[in-house]
Amino acid sequence: MQVTRSTFNEVMVPNYNPAEMVPVRGEGARVWDQNGVEYIDFAGGIAVNVLGHCHPELVKVLAEQGAKLWHLSNVFTNEPALRLAKKLNDATFSDKVYFANSGAEANEAALKLARRFALDHYNEDKDQIIAFTKGFHGRTFFTVTVGGQPAYSDGFGPKPGAIVHCEYNNLDSVKEMMSERTCAVMMEPMQGEGGIIVPDPEFVKGVRELCDQHNALLIFDEVQSGMGRTGALFEYMNLGVTPDILTTAKSLGGGFPVGAMLTTDRVSKSLKPGTHGSTYGGNPLACAVAEKVFDIVNNPEILEGVKHKEALFREKLAEINEKHHVFSEIRGKGMLLGCALNDTYKGRAKDFMVAANHEQLMCLIAGMDVIRFAPSLIITDEDIVEGLKRFERGIAKLIANS
Ligand code: PLP
Repeated sequence: MQVTRSTFNEVMVPNYNPAEMVPVRGEGARVWDQNGVEYIDFAGGIAVNVLGHCHPELVKVLAEQGAKLWHLSNVFTNEPALRLAKKLNDATFSDKVYFANSGAEANEAALKLARRFALDHYNEDKDQIIAFTKGFHGRTFFTVTVGGQPAYSDGFGPKPGAIVHCEYNNLDSVKEMMSERTCAVMMEPMQGEGGIIVPDPEFVKGVRELCDQHNALLIFDEVQSGMGRTGALFEYMNLGVTPDILTTAKSLGGGFPVGAMLTTDRVSKSLKPGTHGSTYGGNPLACAVAEKVFDIVNNPEILEGVKHKEALFREKLAEINEKHHVFSEIRGKGMLLGCALNDTYKGRAKDFMVAANHEQLMCLIAGMDVIRFAPSLIITDEDIVEGLKRFERGIAKLIANS
């Protein structure tokens, strides 16, 4: 059966508007489309393909587990899930893990756990969730309402209640809002979708202290920032601030759908049997792949490499900017970088992304003003340099046609 991009409009719900080219194959940081045109991938499946496309060790473990046992449901446990949970607990602050299938599902579990914990330990009035404007936590109705972009949560009828938003990086706004009614604060330790915003470490420390003063749980959404992307296994380690609950997804499976919520023994006790669940969460196939991703990423050499690659990106992007004067700032950490457009080009991030795509480079945007790169953590220096040459060609053409 012949299918093309135009088939999309005939058979798919119109909530997405994918690029014109249809990718069919990937290897490392390179992707080929239906016409055999080759692209360099700085998008990484939106910060997911942490080891590039078709990493041989992931392909091997997927095939091995695929020939052994795919699925059981949570009526039974399984070896890959138990091993992965143990490794996550050994490497982080957590004692207990809940597996889900996506970032939104991991966050949904985190929010329900925080509400139930407050009910178990305090009273039913302690239900307020504090989150941040421009935050993003997924698209279920609870998580999208906690996210700080009303454009995503409006228009679906009555929203889940007791959710308020403060200004990111503004401790006073949290101080003013917080009270004994607050059951949890949910935040990204570095905002991704909101424009690659790196918080002041003192702000994050201050939020932790406020949570402790008011018996509120601190939830870090590391769905985008976690699993080595910032050069630490999780960004909380860079910040030196430990949450009570942490969620991870995206890079965790390297492209296989899986999410996880990590927490302490004490907090975990509120998710008693029957309180929450998922048919697929902790599926052996997903956990076998994620275990291999974890084994490869949780390695000082890989994490140091991320810092080196960040430096190379920054050096080349600065050269591009010296020539073309398009960015006001290069921000972010590790392999999650944002090029903020200056006043001349504000609002035109999508045009830059399309221009790059025409030069055979895949990249992302984070809002209307920021071009985002979230490539594989093991992308080669040659691919970085070549990808940025293509990016520069796209910029030059965009400027010439402006
Ligand atoms: N949390 C953060 C910080 C994210 O960046 C995203 C996705 O972009 C999500 C949650 C939602 O993850 P998913 O799309 O896997 O549900």
